[in-house]
Amino acid sequence: MCESIPPECLPEIGSRPRVREPSRAARSCGRMASSFDRRVILAGFGSLLLTACAPARRARTRSIQQTPPPARMPAPPAPPPYRIVRRSEWGAESLKPNHDPMASVRRITLHHTAEVAGMGTRRDADLVKGIQNFHRNSRGWADIGYHWIIGLDGNVYEGRSLEAQGAHAGGGNNVENLGISVIGDFTRTLPAARQLRTTQRFLEAQLAYYGVPIHELHGHRDFKATECPGSTLYAWLAAFKQARA
Ligand SMILES: [Zn+2]
Repeated sequence: MCESIPPECLPEIGSRPRVREPSRAARSCGRMASSFDRRVILAGFGSLLLTACAPARRARTRSIQQTPPPARMPAPPAPPPYRIVRRSEWGAESLKPNHDPMASVRRITLHHTAEVAGMGTRRDADLVKGIQNFHRNSRGWADIGYHWIIGLDGNVYEGRSLEAQGAHAGGGNNVENLGISVIGDFTRTLPAARQLRTTQRFLEAQLAYYGVPIHELHGHRDFKATECPGSTLYAWLAAFKQARA
């Protein structure tokens, strides 16, 4: 027989019964209630027991039925943050025959286009077509000089055929050299977030695809005295390389 009712079994006066992890004393409440002296129950403690012990038992049941959270599954790989825009989509003119073949890629060079006529008002497709027109028809090159162009919209525009040597780094520097240009002038500012994100992901993909070592990733200014690809983007490129060296 219980000599006293454990405090865990008593309701708090003026408040709802506490629901908390049952103590060993509370877990023994049921047994105590069944053996409790009948005279004490008649004196009015029975209702206290029923009221106070019920929440403790419910809390215990909830604690037993709680299932552990599911193990965290690895997140699926993120899709590339860009779309490849094919030549046919931006209305490219054909490659002319005055070019050298490119048998393989052993280095990559990053450029910026600097200011392009209509930048900020025209679509990227129109800007790329304007660059091709300047390179191909005004300068007389076989095609647009770059193999890939990264648009302000964060998409990647297909440039000169990968089977053709580019015209972007000057003379022999173009041999086995993949030319990638980012639309914009990055002398003082970086590309906007989505364009920079594409630049990073696209460079990573090209380095991996061709197995180009990180020290063979260049900015245009590594080959000649030029601002290209802009001091700010060039500094970003240096950090990109350092992080992967
Ligand atoms: Zn350049």
